[in-house]
Amino acid sequence: MELFESKKLELVRNELIEHAKKHPLYKNILNTKGNIVFGRGADSAKILFIGEAPGFTENETGKPFVGRSGKLLEEWVKELGITKEEYAIMNVVPMIPLSEEGKIRPPTPEEIQYFLPITMKMVNTINPTVIVLLGKSAARAFEKETMKVGESCEYEGKKMYFIYHPAYYLRNGAKGFDALVKLKKLLEENKNVKKQLTLGNF
Ligand code: URA
Repeated sequence: MELFESKKLELVRNELIEHAKKHPLYKNILNTKGNIVFGRGADSAKILFIGEAPGFTENETGKPFVGRSGKLLEEWVKELGITKEEYAIMNVVPMIPLSEEGKIRPPTPEEIQYFLPITMKMVNTINPTVIVLLGKSAARAFEKETMKVGESCEYEGKKMYFIYHPAYYLRNGAKGFDALVKLKKLLEENKNVKKQLTLGNF
């Protein structure tokens, strides 16, 4: 089931919207007639990609990773041989962060922190076996800033992998496929790992 219409994520989605409306970033949504961006993909995903915050295209469409970074992420998904039913994508901040001049900026540690309880509920409800952190902001949310590209670790019974954000590779005219080699191996190794039992849907 697509995250957007998933019953098991309905509670978290409503909570996210309520939480978001109380945050100063919500003025960006009102000023741009944009959207609070929830996740996309399968609610039973075994692989969860976690990014930073929506860009302009995401703000307009209400879906994460649908702009240039999203196109590269989809190339990664293809390269990794993952099917639609196997993955989901979300951000650690669900609203577009803008500077005074109206330019995209990275979310602040405080903004990441504010949404952390919802981020955790999303992760726990989707309950993947592998979490892929896309860049520094995602790593910061999980206190994994020291992770190096291509590195993996255990995280609450799940595997966690760090790779630079797709935007980083785009800026450098690269595709980042070399950083996918170890992830592909990790996915292979965890192919038959069953999802953990969870205590309800939080
Ligand atoms: N960058 C992100 O981190 N998330 C998006 O949804 C789009 C671009």
